Amino acid sequence: MANCDEGYNCDRCGKYVDNVKVSELYLRYVLGVVPAEELPREPERHIRCTPEFAQYIVHPNFDPLACDDPALDKRNLPEQVRRRQEKLFTRAWLRLQAVANSNLAVDEYPLPDLVNGSSA
Ligand SMILES: [Zn+2]
Repeated sequence: MANCDEGYNCDRCGKYVDNVKVSELYLRYVLGVVPAEELPREPERHIRCTPEFAQYIVHPNFDPLACDDPALDKRNLPEQVRRRQEKLFTRAWLRLQAVANSNLAVDEYPLPDLVNGSSA
């Protein structure tokens, strides 16, 4: 958080989003979904306040979280789709934990192979 040390409040729970490790905005940024120039304009949110994404993070260091909206609940997805999403979001989450503790510049956060084209 180089030039935005003031941080932002979560637009769902209203509490301060302490760092990029818990930020859903940065999670989507790492995934290549949010372009860097959009970061200051997009609403900030906690990962755990966004069950529609958080449900896909499957890792011993992340307390599993269910999404209760039937339209978004991963348990209603075909297994193949669900697994692909879990792989992707878990990777992005791990990447976020790693870059947050590194000296990488923010524009180096996104997963390289996702940014350089292969959108499949
Ligand atoms: Zn929140």
